[in-house]
Amino acid sequence: MEYFDTIKRHDYEQISIIQNQKAKLFAVDVIHDTTRGPAVGGTRFMKYPNEEEAIRDALKLSRGMTYKSAAAGLDCGGGKTVIMEMDGMDRTLALKTLGRYIEHLQGRRYTGRDLGVSTEDIDFMRTETRWVADETPAGVGDLSEATAFGVYQGIKACLAEAYGNDSLKGRSISVQGVGEVGYWVVKYAVENGAKVTISDIHPKAIEKTAKAFPVTVVKPEEIYGVNGDVFSPCAIGGIICSETIPKFRCRIIAGSANNVLATEEDGIALFQRGILYAPDYVINSGALIQWWYRQKTYEVKNKRDPREAICDLYPVIRNILKESKEKKLAPAMVADRYAERQLKKEKTYVDFNWGNLK
Ligand code: NAD
Repeated sequence: MEYFDTIKRHDYEQISIIQNQKAKLFAVDVIHDTTRGPAVGGTRFMKYPNEEEAIRDALKLSRGMTYKSAAAGLDCGGGKTVIMEMDGMDRTLALKTLGRYIEHLQGRRYTGRDLGVSTEDIDFMRTETRWVADETPAGVGDLSEATAFGVYQGIKACLAEAYGNDSLKGRSISVQGVGEVGYWVVKYAVENGAKVTISDIHPKAIEKTAKAFPVTVVKPEEIYGVNGDVFSPCAIGGIICSETIPKFRCRIIAGSANNVLATEEDGIALFQRGILYAPDYVINSGALIQWWYRQKTYEVKNKRDPREAICDLYPVIRNILKESKEKKLAPAMVADRYAERQLKKEKTYVDFNWGNLK
């Protein structure tokens, strides 16, 4: 199995397969790193072509969470769970089984919603474990809005670097994807005086946003070529690639979409074209930050105002862009180095809050 090489190279702490054949459950839970604290990261429910692909996805995503937590300066590490969607599954039993598994980790792992997992699913898991985020207003609140607030901070940091002035007033911003996060990004942009262009493949999403805000709508394939200051990708990953890079007519790329660079080379190509790029896992960490400071299970609730903590993304992104310029390195590479510097401590392999179990 070729991923054993990946497991050793990136120092994964623990990889578990959770099966319950009665429920048709095959899930993979990965704890990549707990150097800074418990391994946080959502649970994803989706179809995979085979078990190996599910394992590969969990490995990649959990490591991404370690970097995201470290770059955000949070005392937590990275983990991820993926559930293979199967025909004829007993979804409730599958989720409860997984909940029990998470509970037995006694807080080393803390999970929540990711792709394909609903709040109802989370409620089933919560019958078996404390270590799952409660997204109600009394719990961690609206995480998409928190992500958008972080994107807004990131856009301002990029504007400051590019123009020496971080105001959005009169700037033109194009937003790809106006779903949960993109809608709020448009709101922040419009309310702060920007001229906004949007695209989406879903007519309902366009309709909702265009009804609420004065925006220009373009076809999905036209968004890359919009002449303006900022392109904000808030839809899917992999869209910055050799095909789209020559089309960009913007100075800045700053949005929420995960894994937005198709390859590392595409990050270098953007840099060579002089387009400032705010690294995805840094600019989109607002949800993680809000979750961390509002969840009750660890002793961090109310330790900091999540809003204030999300504002810290501004100086982090400015520093990354500054270092990128000084060292002539693409920002995505600078971000990795920055996150790795935060991880230069001994691994712990322990539970973090024995004293606080309720
Ligand atoms: P969402 O599904 O609510 O919204 C995505 C929108 O993009 C949808 O309206 C969809 O129709 C549209 N879309 C898909 N493909 C498109 C295309 N080719 N062109 C134009 N529009 C397209 O998702 P979301 O929660 O808003 O997340 C958006 C991105 O941000 C995702 O990549 C997600 O992984 C990332 N992200 C989200 C959060 C969060 O808090 N929700 C946190 C971190 C990162």
